[in-house]
Amino acid sequence: RMKWKRVVGVLRELEEACGTSVSRLRQVVDAMAVEMHAGLASEGGSKLKMLLTFVDKLPNGNEKGICYAIHLGGTNFRVLRVHLGGRRSGILRRDVERMPIPQHLMTSTSEDLFEFIASSLKQFVVGEEEKDSELSSVSRSELGFTFSFPVKQVSVSSGILIKWTKGFSIADMIGKDVSECLQQAMAKKGLNIHVAALVNDTVGTLAVGHYNDEDTVAAVIIGTGTNACYFERADAIIKCQGLLTTSGGMVVNMEWGNFWSSHLPRTQYDIDLDAESPNPNDQGFEKMISGMYLGDIVRRVLLRMSRESDIFGPSSSRLSTPFILRTPLMASMHQDDTPDLREVARVCNDVLGIPDVSLKARKLIVNICDIITRRAARLAAAGIVGILKKIGRDGSAGVAGSRTKAASSGGKLKRTVVAMEGGLYTNYTLFREYLEEAVAEILGEELAPFVTLKVVEDGSGLGAALLAASLSFIS
Ligand code: ADP
Repeated sequence: RMKWKRVVGVLRELEEACGTSVSRLRQVVDAMAVEMHAGLASEGGSKLKMLLTFVDKLPNGNEKGICYAIHLGGTNFRVLRVHLGGRRSGILRRDVERMPIPQHLMTSTSEDLFEFIASSLKQFVVGEEEKDSELSSVSRSELGFTFSFPVKQVSVSSGILIKWTKGFSIADMIGKDVSECLQQAMAKKGLNIHVAALVNDTVGTLAVGHYNDEDTVAAVIIGTGTNACYFERADAIIKCQGLLTTSGGMVVNMEWGNFWSSHLPRTQYDIDLDAESPNPNDQGFEKMISGMYLGDIVRRVLLRMSRESDIFGPSSSRLSTPFILRTPLMASMHQDDTPDLREVARVCNDVLGIPDVSLKARKLIVNICDIITRRAARLAAAGIVGILKKIGRDGSAGVAGSRTKAASSGGKLKRTVVAMEGGLYTNYTLFREYLEEAVAEILGEELAPFVTLKVVEDGSGLGAALLAASLSFIS
C-alpha cells in the first residue's frame, strides 16, 4: 500500500539526474569560460551578457574622506555615510539609515520615486551635519548609487534602465538615465551632491572585497537570486574595441544567473519549474542555484512522491501550492540535528499540511534537500572556477596547459580571493560547505590552497561609497 519501492525509485532517479561528479563539474567550468569569452566577443554572443561597468579601478584602502551611498534594490531603500581614514586606518565611521519604499511609489512615476529618494537623502544629510558640524563646510559631496536592476551602463556614473524587476513598474523610467533622474531630484532639493558611481550590487561586493584584500579578483552573490562580476583585462573585452582604461582592466558584470550549458544536470522538476515561471527560458543557472527556487524544487519532488505513494498520507493540497516551501525552511529541515527529526515533522505539519510523517519518510525528505542543495552548491562552485579559468587563475594558464606543469612552475600561482555575499551562502551552512568543498575538489589539492572565498558584508551599500571615494578623490 505504501509503495515505498516506487518512492525509492523516484529518489534514485533524482540522485542520478542531479549527479555532479568532478568530471561533470569540469565540463561546466569549461562551458562557463567559453560562454564568458563569447559574451565578451560580441553583443548578444552568449546568454551571458557580460556587461561593461566602466569601473577600471577598485578601492584599495588609500581612500580618505567622507562619502555617501544610496541603495535601491528591493522593498527597502538605504542611505549611508562613510568616513574613510586612508592607509591603514580603514573605515573610521559608518552611519546607515534604512527606510521602506512606500508601495504606491513602486508603480508611480520616476519623478515621484526620485523625489522621495532625494528628500529621504536630504533628511539624512541634514541629520548627519547636525551631529558633525565639520560636514557643513564641505561644498560638494560624492555619492555612490547602487541600483539593483538591469542597467545598460553608459559611463561609470550613468546608465539606462533596461527593465524593472522585483515588483517595481514605472513605465516612464525605462530607457532613462538613472543617475540623471537622481541628480535632478537632488538639485531640486538643493543638495550639492554628485553621483560619482552607478553600480550593480555585485560590483559593490567586489569593491568591498578588494578594499579589504587586494588579491580579490571576483565577487559572487548567492541570495534570492545569483550573479557574479570580476576584473577583466581591457584587451579581452573584444566587443568594445580600442577600450582604453588607465588600469588596463575593467570590472565586468556577468549576469551569470542566465548562464546555460547542456552539461548542467537538469531534471524534469527543473523543466517544470522553468515552464511555470513568469520568465521561462530565462535565468536557467539561477533557477538551479538560488534561494528563490531551491525550496520549490524540493516541493516538486515531494509532490511527485505523494502522488505515487501514500507515505505522506492522504495528499495535501498545500504541497501543490507553488513556493509554499521557502528555502530557509528547507534548510532548517536539511540541517535538523534532532535524532527523531522534529524540525522536519514540524515543517511538514505546519507548512505543508502533512501530519504524522513517519521517521523513515522524514529521513527521505532530508535526503531530497541534501541532493538539491548539494547540486546547487557544486554548480555554483563550478561557475566560480570557470571565472578563475577565464582569467588564468585556475592553474591551467601554464604554457603547456597541463594542470601539473602549471602547478609546479611555482611562480605562476597567485593567491586569489573571491568575495562572497548573499543570504543563501552566508546562512545555509551545508550549502556553503558543499560549495567550498567542490571548489577545492575541482582545483585539486595543489591549487586549492591558493584560492580563498571570503564573505563580505554590505557590498551594496559600503561598496558604492568606496567606489565613489576611489573614483573621485586623489589618494
Ligand atoms: P536578497 O538576495 O533578497 O537581496 P539576501 O542576500 O539576504 O537578500 O538573500 C536572501 C535569501 O537568502 C532568501 O530569499 C533565502 O532564499 C536565502 N536565505 C536566507 N536565510 C536563509 C537560511 N537560513 N537558509 C537558507 N537560505 C536562506
